[in-house]
Amino acid sequence: MLAPLVSTSPQPDSLWRHLAARAGTLDLPVGAGPLTRDVQTDVAIVGAGYSGLAAAYALSKRGVPCVVLDANPVGWGASGRNGGVVSSKFRVSFPAIAARYGLDVAKRMHRLAHDGVRVVQSLVDEFAISGAEFQRTGSLRCAHSERALATCVAEADWVRASLGDRSMKALSRAQTQHETGSTGFVGGVLSEDAGTILPLEYVLGIARGLAARGVPIHESTRVEAIEPARGGPGVVLRTAAATVRARQLIVATNAYSGLNPATAAYQRELVPFRSAMIATERLPADVDAKLMTMQRSYTETRRMMKWFRRADGRMLFGGRDAFGKEGQDTGFEALRRAMIALFPELADVRVAFRWSGYVAMTFNALPHVGRSDDATVFCVGYNGAGVAMASLVGQHAAALALGERPDLALLAQDGLRPVPFHSLRAPGVRLVAAWYQLLDAVGV
Ligand SMILES: Cc1cc2nc3c(=O)[nH]c(=O)nc-3n(C[C@H](O)[C@H](O)[C@H](O)COP(=O)(O)OP(=O)(O)OC[C@H]3O[C@@H](n4cnc5c(N)ncnc54)[C@H](O)[C@@H]3O)c2cc1C
Repeated sequence: MLAPLVSTSPQPDSLWRHLAARAGTLDLPVGAGPLTRDVQTDVAIVGAGYSGLAAAYALSKRGVPCVVLDANPVGWGASGRNGGVVSSKFRVSFPAIAARYGLDVAKRMHRLAHDGVRVVQSLVDEFAISGAEFQRTGSLRCAHSERALATCVAEADWVRASLGDRSMKALSRAQTQHETGSTGFVGGVLSEDAGTILPLEYVLGIARGLAARGVPIHESTRVEAIEPARGGPGVVLRTAAATVRARQLIVATNAYSGLNPATAAYQRELVPFRSAMIATERLPADVDAKLMTMQRSYTETRRMMKWFRRADGRMLFGGRDAFGKEGQDTGFEALRRAMIALFPELADVRVAFRWSGYVAMTFNALPHVGRSDDATVFCVGYNGAGVAMASLVGQHAAALALGERPDLALLAQDGLRPVPFHSLRAPGVRLVAAWYQLLDAVGV
């Protein structure tokens, strides 16, 4: 049995919780409270992040009864902690997909990636989540070297020529430095079909919208056992106080699958990787007027990628930190140093919030959606880019649970495929991260 990654720790003291508390949305009721009585339903969903709620949304639109269960409050997982970067790409580039699997597969993957952004917009509109401040301002990939820039520009050229997508544009060194306010980049590529969102407001807004439509969302209800139904198709889910019987189950627990042995099999599909973030105090007016005034999201091209954005008049800076555990203090000071290296004017600006969570990496760097048995569908493995993708993929998982066959191209996974030598994942992740940091440091 796998040791749990994290215990049910308190919610992190994130900027997002601070903003939600200020807006008065943090304590609005989002669910039906913990499950206290046995229920029977068509589809049970474990996990109330974007994936699970998107699945519930798709089912409720088709009039299919479902129940959502989460061990924690809505948004406790990655969906309430992430950077709020809404992107229309995968970790694997479209030219690389075409080279290996052919142009038709690359076209379908490109469609799925852009569908994710469209789905975020439609959920925000449908549930009137204006407080999530979704802005389709684009995402700028900032190159740290000429070689990295050439790779990004070649990709944009390929996407334009082969997929007819004109939403990616190369920016010169001067344009990139002007846009970001940093001299640390040699140029960049802008993806216009992308943007930023307040992630916790978004997940809370979807949950409130679903609850208002009568979808039962039971927070503080950990699924402790999943068993096949006796004498027929379906599953039985056991929680501390009650039992759920369902014809189909959707497991949407992603990087937090290891919270309980009941869902730990799905953790073996993944390599969880800690991701950490800092947010400064509100910036002084002169700095505020200079940095990232287009309010896009920004990523850089180093292997241990850092990303940054603005929110609430502050700078947010994030990156992978393979060396710490959730709730620990490691990694934050390194993030602050990296931020100041790119934006020296922030040296005297205080860091007001710092928090972290787990992202779920997969061996093929793509999300995995499929059936683990006749009664169970899973959707996991967003590789740190799940705001848009989980909002989409959760809906496709619902379709799968209903026996439909959505075209998921390379996201489709036939059964669970545990990562080889999974018990060595933690030292393995650290080893790879140390190697990447070394390569970044020497600039290759
Ligand atoms: C620090 C950080 C920054 C990130 N930044 C970005 C970003 O800028 N852009 C982007 O696109 N993506 C980003 N991501 C990734 C993105 O947040 C995730 O891909 C996405 O939120 C996954 O959503 P989910 O619903 O699948 O999982 P989660 O939101 O993690 O939800 C899983 C839920 O399952 C519940 N659960 C687990 N086991 C059980 C059980 N046995 N019983 C009941 N409930 C259970 C957990 O309590 C949890 O609430 C980031 C992630 C982190 C951690």
